[in-house]
Amino acid sequence: MIIILKQDAGDAGIEAVSEKLKEHGYVPNVTRGVSQTIVAAIGTPNLSEKELVAPQLQALDAVAEVLFVSKPYKLVSRESRPEGTAYKIGGEGGGREVEIGGHNIVMMAGPCSVESREQTLEIARDVAKAGAVMLRGGAYKPRTSPYDFQGLGVEGLEYLAEARRETGLPIITEVMTPGLVEKVCEYADVLQIGARNMQNYDLLREVGKFRTPVMLKRGLSSTIEEWLKAAEYVLAGGNERVMFCERGIRTFEPSTRFTLDLSAVPAIKKASHLPIIIDPSQGTGRRDMVAAMSKAAIACGADGLLLEVHPHPEDALSDGQQTLDLKQFAKLMSELKPIAHAVGRGL
Ligand code: PEP
Ligand code: MN
Repeated sequence: MIIILKQDAGDAGIEAVSEKLKEHGYVPNVTRGVSQTIVAAIGTPNLSEKELVAPQLQALDAVAEVLFVSKPYKLVSRESRPEGTAYKIGGEGGGREVEIGGHNIVMMAGPCSVESREQTLEIARDVAKAGAVMLRGGAYKPRTSPYDFQGLGVEGLEYLAEARRETGLPIITEVMTPGLVEKVCEYADVLQIGARNMQNYDLLREVGKFRTPVMLKRGLSSTIEEWLKAAEYVLAGGNERVMFCERGIRTFEPSTRFTLDLSAVPAIKKASHLPIIIDPSQGTGRRDMVAAMSKAAIACGADGLLLEVHPHPEDALSDGQQTLDLKQFAKLMSELKPIAHAVGRGL
């Protein structure tokens, strides 16, 4: 159930609604938007909402409307914030602030894996010069084979932090286990939850306890609804700055590494108020398709792109086949600008 308050409800009105909800065994979750304050009723008490609680709520002076959301992802749902959500990330460790879900398309670029100090600094400088506003790079890597490069761990996080200090780019990096969330939060501006961990509920609960924003990648075989429910775990824990990332799903088609489901963009926009990012690198697994899918992603309403970039993709320790070199990235940036403008966004 979602309770929309009248414009003049004030703190007393919020208090009255919250008290009424608690009386019936709900936990109230208040969202103060620019034009509307909304209270989401979390929980499933043994009462029929429609018959008993809703009329009592409607009778309160402060209440404009009571909406029934039967969906199991109330906090994530579009109904709980109809105008959509934009929020700032970064601003620490020498990094700039970047708005996610606002006017500008957020370009996140960098290597699949942090490989060395020199590699990280060089890529950070070059992607910043080409117009990226965030640096990506995995220090903890989820690799399909245990014999593949597994990432540099804390050493890699240190290199990312140094690159942030030098270039001002906030960093996004993956965390794979609940026990490492606190450590990765010391460095990351955004925590990446990888596709293989989308339904790792202990990890989702753990990142929900922190205030570092979270990018939740879609699981390889996850439905949109499973993805929304996974995000609900993080918001229910109190961490509200979540963004989705579509990175391709498993289908019968072998010519691409995954099938990049761009219809997830309008689907998520309809179902949720949270921003959505597209990762055409994992999504296609093919360097020659990254530019086309990046353009399509912006055209269909994505809030940002996550791109793998490396000075020598052929030497990359992971995902070289889908990685752009710096020239290709700079060219793509200039090609994306008019598309962003055409859909009323900036880049
Ligand atoms: C990555 O971003 O390099 C990565 C491993 O992503 P995913 O979890 O989508 O495979
Ligand atoms: Mn990768």
